[in-house]
Amino acid sequence: MGSLQFSEIEQAAPEMDQLRDQYSRFREELQSAQDEATAVEVMHRWDALRREHSCWVSLTHLRFHQDTTNAEYKQAREQCDQLTPQLTELDISIKRLLVNHPLRDKIETRIGAQAFALWEAEIPTYEPIIEEDMVKQSTLSARYIELLAAASLELRGETLNLSGIAKYAESPDRELRHEAQLVRCSWFEENQDQLDEIFDNLVSLRHGMAGKLGFDNYVELGYLLMQRVDYDQDDVARYRQSVKELVTPLGVELRKWQAAELGIDKVMAWDLAVFFPEGNPLPEGDHDWMIEQAKEMFDEMGGGLDSFFHLLSDGGFMDLKTREGKAGGGFCTSFETVGMPFIYANFNGTRGDVEVFTHEMGHAFQCYMSRKQPWVDYLWPTYESCEIHSMGLEFLTWPHMEKFFGERAEQFRRIHLAGALLFLPYGVAVDHFQHLVYAQPNASAAERHAIWQELEREYLPWMDWGDLPHGSNGGRWQSQRHIYLSPFYYIDYTLAQTCALQFWLRARQDSQQAMDDYVALCRRGGEAPFGELASSAGLVSPFQEGCLRDVVEQARQALPALPASS
Ligand SMILES: [Zn+2]
Repeated sequence: MGSLQFSEIEQAAPEMDQLRDQYSRFREELQSAQDEATAVEVMHRWDALRREHSCWVSLTHLRFHQDTTNAEYKQAREQCDQLTPQLTELDISIKRLLVNHPLRDKIETRIGAQAFALWEAEIPTYEPIIEEDMVKQSTLSARYIELLAAASLELRGETLNLSGIAKYAESPDRELRHEAQLVRCSWFEENQDQLDEIFDNLVSLRHGMAGKLGFDNYVELGYLLMQRVDYDQDDVARYRQSVKELVTPLGVELRKWQAAELGIDKVMAWDLAVFFPEGNPLPEGDHDWMIEQAKEMFDEMGGGLDSFFHLLSDGGFMDLKTREGKAGGGFCTSFETVGMPFIYANFNGTRGDVEVFTHEMGHAFQCYMSRKQPWVDYLWPTYESCEIHSMGLEFLTWPHMEKFFGERAEQFRRIHLAGALLFLPYGVAVDHFQHLVYAQPNASAAERHAIWQELEREYLPWMDWGDLPHGSNGGRWQSQRHIYLSPFYYIDYTLAQTCALQFWLRARQDSQQAMDDYVALCRRGGEAPFGELASSAGLVSPFQEGCLRDVVEQARQALPALPASS
């Protein structure tokens, strides 16, 4: 083999005293730099340190997710949470200096305008006055992760975690689906006080930080933290509105089609994930088999996906099986010192495994393709652009789905497309919820649940929770991790989905072209803002008038069960 092994990657925690001296030397050198070449040379040394810090944060968080019950990992994560604000402060001290540097224009010509745009967004988001609050925020986030990871659910004699029970949402047996949802929702109801308390503390903390930094509320601060440098709240509000007008009615039709397909009167909350009376198609093998199929698939797709997947797989840069104590969810993280990403997931034997896997693989591939970007700021783009790589690859792998689903691959594609469309109203509802919550930071827990209920009626009018607890009281948002852990990280998925659907449409006409454009986009990493990255890949911005309408209309035509136009 000889390829780099994940187990060989080590990164010690930074020595803060030493680091402070180092940073003050950087500042002195930058201040006295007489030409941009000297400044850029200093910046490269600073960049190397930032890669080490980022790598350390990634490793620490990854290990904690892999085993939330391991005391050593937990302690390391706590140390990381303690030090992260101090690292942010040190980096901001350099960014502030560079933004105001007499040689800024010349430096900008060398390194690109995007880094400066990102730094200008970041500078107002941190002052030492919020250091303690940042640490508290991390502690609360960890509490949420641990609480969910520790869920132990009993279903017909089987003990399951939240990832494990999710597979029953796709069972062909309606009674079993209902029972599984009942168990799941009951767990959330039993833990609702804790979930409310954690969130309430998070909202007060975030609102308080916004106030200390001079913002009216957390919304504006949240946008800056998400580094949204080329669109604003008004653009997002207009986009949400267009989803409500164009996609929600389509969602209603899709749910009717689904009910007809299932032979039931109405799709209830426990039916949402299943589309065929015999159950959804399942991958025809276990984890190891899936990896073998994936190897074949990426070998056929080429474009660099082939050799990259071998590196990932041979080097152990994946943890995909679910197990006790392992935190839920799926994500991709990276080790900037060596230019390798890592894929994390919780396989549960459903089609979702293939979706999560191709999704995270898209992130990983982009991260790998842009590893030669000279600045750490450009290794990843901002999130709405990141999600184009992941959701785009979900669609680009379509022609290969026979490898996982055999004769039922076409059913998989249909569910995937319907799911992609149905996701849009849910995604904007999650975004809208957060805008409303942070605009009214003193709302009670009950008021927040009422807000969610109202949004559900507005964007997802087909939702019917029946006799299920928690969900029927507006509690669904409490299982959406981003709302707790990554505020305002959600509209990104819907914007990216609108772009990914364009890749899908292009691939249907010219798969090679779509693949080439995709690889070129990945290579650019984060060297430009969202709008520019999208247009360079020939994608119409979701903010552009008519974009969503075109995309949705073409998707509708591909779903034969639906009439061509409403
Ligand atoms: Zn993603």
